[in-house]
Amino acid sequence: MCNNKLSYCYGNDRMRDECGLFGGVINSENNMQTTCFALYALQHRGQESAGIAVSNGNNIWIKKGMGLVSEVFEDTGTHEIFQGNKVIGHVRYSYGEQGLKPENTQPLLFRYRFGEMAIAHNGNLLNHYKLREGLESQGSIFQSTTDSELLAHFVAREGSPEIEEALKNVVPVLRGGYAFIILTRDKVIGLRDPLGIRPLSLGRIGQNEYILSSETCAFNTLGAEFVRDVEPGEMLTINDNWISSFRITPSPRKALCIFEFIYFARPDSELCGKNVHLVRRELGRNLAREHPVNADVVVGVPDSSISAGSGFAEESGLPYEMGLIKNRYIGRTFIQPAPETRKLGVGIKLNPVKSIVEGKRVVIVDDSIVRGTTSMQLVNMLRQAGALEVHMRISSPPVISSCYYGINTPTSSELIASQGSDEVARLIKADSIGFLSLEKMIESVGISGEKLCQACFTGDYPV
Ligand code: SF4
Repeated sequence: MCNNKLSYCYGNDRMRDECGLFGGVINSENNMQTTCFALYALQHRGQESAGIAVSNGNNIWIKKGMGLVSEVFEDTGTHEIFQGNKVIGHVRYSYGEQGLKPENTQPLLFRYRFGEMAIAHNGNLLNHYKLREGLESQGSIFQSTTDSELLAHFVAREGSPEIEEALKNVVPVLRGGYAFIILTRDKVIGLRDPLGIRPLSLGRIGQNEYILSSETCAFNTLGAEFVRDVEPGEMLTINDNWISSFRITPSPRKALCIFEFIYFARPDSELCGKNVHLVRRELGRNLAREHPVNADVVVGVPDSSISAGSGFAEESGLPYEMGLIKNRYIGRTFIQPAPETRKLGVGIKLNPVKSIVEGKRVVIVDDSIVRGTTSMQLVNMLRQAGALEVHMRISSPPVISSCYYGINTPTSSELIASQGSDEVARLIKADSIGFLSLEKMIESVGISGEKLCQACFTGDYPV
């Protein structure tokens, strides 16, 4: 059981995305503010740091810091110095050795002999230790501990004044799941890994202002239209007057992270042409078909499981209720719990509605189980609020393997689902538990399993 930080305790029992990216050429009066709005839309992808880099054609300025977008850019409206029509922005969630360090906030800015570049990165480079060791042994000095910095070192060593030419040689060396947005003085470049594990989409404001974003919900916020997803292995360059595409690495297959549909992405985003909310509702419907239960009420764990919960209720003919309320104002603040408050755990973040669950047989729908600590506390909390029975239904299969493509997961031995359904139900003290099957998960997403990464459910890694 987690015993250090309350908010960490709750977050630590979730798969966590690493970052959200935004960038483009935008001719608004205050691009800092426009980029802030986009980052607000992507805030769910990372709450530990935020940053924006802007180019006016001659220089790149950067502002970044630890905290939420609203904290780092509280005075955005008055920042006249950050004028320029090319921007990139980043929100970050970090983990492991790359943890909470100010030097790892992004975008990272580099000056080299052919100019400046700012880099925003989402994902993980599998071979970064080896690549970094090689560079350090040749005298390279790194300013951060992130794998993102490797790209800049390799580009600088290429000795090409054209950054796209350098990237054509550098990108094939990188292994893993990643999306990059790079800002130079005169252009914005988007890159996606050869399998398209991490998402990146292209949008347009008006006739010819092109923007890139990890998720399409940022386009809606800016009144932009979705153009298309950046293709796996594609490099897209956005300039003042044109946009160009180059297939930088061959794409042997596609493998978009299926967890984007299950948990990471915002319900109003679209991935591969599929609306995330509708996919989640279908996950819930299929879950009800596979694991029906005699109950009185269905409750989805807010926010990510509300869509799946409503789908479950629809299919099973049971009422859907707001049986759990989320406290939205805790954020990522680090509350050091005293021993006597530690037992409150997830109750700080979620609260049951007694009048909804008291005397009822409750089905609680969640998107996934990682360590099981949250589920355990939810079941306990609902029983204390008077629920007669608590049936846990999970809108994805058991998570049995760690992710190596930029998602924070515990080691396999810490994953509760690796112990089998009956044991999980016993451990979390639920009356029953049911996981959606792999087959029905794929069917609900509506994309061929060959085009999705499902490695945390199967152990079958695409890279
Ligand atoms: Fe996504 Fe799981 Fe694949 Fe990681 S292993 S990219 S979380 S599907």
